[in-house]
Amino acid sequence: MVRSAVRSGLVGAGSPVTGFIDVDGILESVRDLTAAFDGVPVLHTFAVKAAALVPVLRLLADAGLGCEVASPGEYAQALAAGVPPERIVYDSPAKTRAELATALTAGAAVNADNLDELERIDALLPAAPPAVGLRINPQVGSGAIAAMSTAGRASKFGVPLREQRERIIAACLARPALTRLHVHVGSQGCPLELMADGVAAVYELAERINAAAGYQQITGVDIGGGLPVNFTGDEVTPTYADYARLLRRRVPGLFDGRYTLITEFGRSLLAKNGFVAALVEYTKQAGDRRIAITHAGAQVATRTVFMPQSWPLRLGAFTAAGDRKSGPALRQDVAGPCCFAGDMVALDHPLPELTAGDVVALYDTGAYYFSTPWSYNSLPRTAVYGFARRDGEVRFTTIRAQQSIAEIVAESGGAQADALLALCPVRQR
Ligand SMILES: *Cc1c(COP(=O)(O)O)cnc(C)c1O
Repeated sequence: MVRSAVRSGLVGAGSPVTGFIDVDGILESVRDLTAAFDGVPVLHTFAVKAAALVPVLRLLADAGLGCEVASPGEYAQALAAGVPPERIVYDSPAKTRAELATALTAGAAVNADNLDELERIDALLPAAPPAVGLRINPQVGSGAIAAMSTAGRASKFGVPLREQRERIIAACLARPALTRLHVHVGSQGCPLELMADGVAAVYELAERINAAAGYQQITGVDIGGGLPVNFTGDEVTPTYADYARLLRRRVPGLFDGRYTLITEFGRSLLAKNGFVAALVEYTKQAGDRRIAITHAGAQVATRTVFMPQSWPLRLGAFTAAGDRKSGPALRQDVAGPCCFAGDMVALDHPLPELTAGDVVALYDTGAYYFSTPWSYNSLPRTAVYGFARRDGEVRFTTIRAQQSIAEIVAESGGAQADALLALCPVRQR
């Protein structure tokens, strides 16, 4: 596919770094997800932060998914994609009163992050309230990446279950409108067993609340996202089927039809269905290092650059004509365009020798890469194209145009160029 991308001219001298998204791949991932949870009432939502691109949300909505959002911007993107509010779940640890009022009035489900937020919601609930949930931190432990783990003892997310179980139960019983519990154990790096422990703890809590209420007050369990992605090879592992099988065994009561399941997967739906392609601008030899200077750095691969141990990527080397490069693997550093020394996408990475004009592919970057840009050095947000093979040829369509230089200037206060001069002492002329 990199070959078609290069031949199409969508990456090269004129557009030195571009993101690509595989339409059929996404649809296949959605099929795997829906098949895994077949037979139970379920609302699958897509965690918008993983690929906040309206056409992607629209594609997913067309395939039956809703959206999990965590900011006014993500909420507006979901609406712009045509997702109806009743298929939107609003999370986030810092919702303002205005955000809450907007979501609740429109009919979006809201998961309160804490008990103070539940009190805010009490005051804002419309006459016909949407689904309201409470995020629980099951405190089952952290995964391999501390920054991505949300179920350690002292996570900033949710109400800590082990410390506040009785308060949680009382808060729920006092609010018949609270009908959901929410848990998200972490993103990437969490073993399936740990995720299942978190879901099991929240299921048991739902059962306790329902027993104490004397009727089924909790009708929905939102199990979050977090299915880890294999960044070391082509294989999809673990699969949604693996996870659903484990959950069915571990928490059978959750699958007996009494509860609606809500899921919020992000990375596992998109990561393997996208890649970044970047031009090699120069190569150099410095000290004992062979360095390729490319246009993909921290602006599109922020986490990989800053946390290389946690987020290593597979790379591919292609010629300017788009052919896969052959030749012996040489250890090379692959650098980005940003003006700081740490802007390296890979160190000592074995690849056929890169030369100026080649194209480097960063695989498995469909989630949280080009869709989560960083505007360091005022580098533009890259263009993103969707592709699919139709009638024997690869067709491309624009998802997002590359940010223009004029937009960059405008975003950086271009219209207020005189603003600070206006505050200066009047100059004697
Ligand atoms: C980020 C996030 C998700 C999605 O996580 P993935 O690892 O991308 O599946 C789901 N729910 C919540 C609350 C999140 O913060």
